[in-house]
Amino acid sequence: MNAREVARRIVLCCQRLAAQGLIAGQDGNVTVRLSPTRVLVTPSGLFKALLKPTDLVEVDLAGRKLRGRRNPTSELDLHLRILRRRPDVGAVVHAHPPIATGFAVAGEGFDRFVLPELVLTLGRVPVVPYGTPGTPELGDRVEPYLERHDGLLLANHGAVTFGPTLDAAWMRMESLEHAARIIFAARALGKVTELTSEAAARLEASRWRAPREPDA
Ligand SMILES: [Zn+2]
Repeated sequence: MNAREVARRIVLCCQRLAAQGLIAGQDGNVTVRLSPTRVLVTPSGLFKALLKPTDLVEVDLAGRKLRGRRNPTSELDLHLRILRRRPDVGAVVHAHPPIATGFAVAGEGFDRFVLPELVLTLGRVPVVPYGTPGTPELGDRVEPYLERHDGLLLANHGAVTFGPTLDAAWMRMESLEHAARIIFAARALGKVTELTSEAAARLEASRWRAPREPDA
């Protein structure tokens, strides 16, 4: 994908996240690695449902603006920490999916294996202790979790997912919210049955065997 195609895909991602209620208003932000040192990022302060490809901003891995009329998202530091720490990551999606964020507000991660799809797409999803949004404190809180996870709940805030491509990171965000809804429904019914440890181990093994997709 060239930079223009990546920009259109980011816009589509933001529109879909908004249509599905995973973000509201100016919430949420997306980054995609264009090269080892160049990153395309959503701007700050815009209504994401109405975003245009020309609103996107190009920065380097230190956060210096390379191209674009607007300023990058206030959560740029969070995205760059992930992209710098994980060279295998090509894209990062941050959103406020309501049910998954409800779990984050309750301080509950998805650390028990209940749904095969969630095990395969994300594995365990812990809650990162609260850090003030838009400040380096949030990145400081997230960094210790980056080696072992591809998705995190952010206490009292939202969620962040990442992957080799934008589509992979985006799907993980959708899957996280979908799983949260199902587990929430099971809770309401009064019983959450966990997978056996053998079944969970088989799923985890196939997750790590899955081939890496090429970068977007
Ligand atoms: Zn946020």
